[in-house]
Amino acid sequence: MEHLYQARIVYSPGVAPINDGALVSHDGRLVAVGARSALRKDYPAARITDFGDAIILPPLVNAHTHLELTLFPEWVRLFNEKGTSPTFVDWMLRMVRVKRQIAHEAFAPAVATGLRASLQSGVGAIGDILSSFWARSAYLDTPMLGRVFFEILGRDPARNHQLLSSVTALLDAHYGALLPALSPHAPYTISAEFLANVMTLATEKKLPLAIHLAESSAEVEFLQTATGPLIDKFYPFVGWRDTMPIATGKTPLTWLTSCGQLSSRTLLIHAVQVTAADIQAIAAARASVVLCPRSNHRLHVGKAPAGAMHRAGIRLALGTDSLASNDSLSIWDELAFARTWFNGELDPPALLAMATINGAMALGLDGELGRLAAGWGSHFQVLRPAALPRLSEVEDFLTAPGRDAEVKALYLHGCNQLTEQGSISR
Ligand SMILES: [Zn+2]
Repeated sequence: MEHLYQARIVYSPGVAPINDGALVSHDGRLVAVGARSALRKDYPAARITDFGDAIILPPLVNAHTHLELTLFPEWVRLFNEKGTSPTFVDWMLRMVRVKRQIAHEAFAPAVATGLRASLQSGVGAIGDILSSFWARSAYLDTPMLGRVFFEILGRDPARNHQLLSSVTALLDAHYGALLPALSPHAPYTISAEFLANVMTLATEKKLPLAIHLAESSAEVEFLQTATGPLIDKFYPFVGWRDTMPIATGKTPLTWLTSCGQLSSRTLLIHAVQVTAADIQAIAAARASVVLCPRSNHRLHVGKAPAGAMHRAGIRLALGTDSLASNDSLSIWDELAFARTWFNGELDPPALLAMATINGAMALGLDGELGRLAAGWGSHFQVLRPAALPRLSEVEDFLTAPGRDAEVKALYLHGCNQLTEQGSISR
């Protein structure tokens, strides 16, 4: 049976908002989106849910996060990990120290907590990095869409071969509504040979591949001259003194492309330290860039050239990164911060596309989630603000702070996943 959902405003990225809009859903797919009056005529037998003075729009997409670290702030307190992290490398060391002290059993509850928090803030799809593979059971009963990126790192050839086989064995399953994908961690934690193998595997399996790339100046120094704090502090700390890298003279992006080809299934996470030539190469390869502005701000790594990348036609998406470098898993919060942080370089329509359709496309969800249109999955959220904006100001309103608290419903696969109070109903 058809179900018609109506609200004062219906918004989908890239098209004009609809006043007194509605959508019709049947068997978990959208069959029509348009003016309420017309759709009620066309579907006279449909069951009606009227959200009243509300905005219906697509769920948000958190294209880069690490839900296994959702309890990180508690772990830091638990292990009395005092002090601040003045540099990116200090922060890395602190994270490794904390993770090493955590019992294996603690990671699945962290993922589950992160999934719940994400749904509550209107996120319907994630690109989630998982390094604790044993915690993958945490995804089994979630309605969340997107990808589980199995994280791969290593510089020891003997161990790498074994790791690649165990990851390959994980790639043919579904994880709840999530699909598998691959994430070589970063240029300073994986050897060029191993990265080349992982990139080949991703190509063979037609899987998305996400890599933290060009995040800090320490990473640039590491690749170009094989010097700096990653060599002096990080390598001795993790016991990699025997696999010291050589100077390549390459930027992170040119180093990556020397290991394998980029494609529309490649997600470059951060891309703060990129040159004009790097930007052209990313655009030509049709790779996606996932910006994590609050994390970059917290770790003092600089500001990505978002305006230049947008103008070059690169598909930009948005991620929160983990709670080890951010205050919340809310993409509403990230959007509002990004608008200020990029200071006019990205306008509200571009920011909203990043937070919805662009993230969905980067995760391979084109045609499923990220737009409200006939034929797409029946995935949408409902915001009920204290006062609705004018139709001409909807995009401005949606990128302003405070939207997170206004999420009243999140429909995934045609079913509301939140109760009226905004908590989880399953
Ligand atoms: Zn990350």
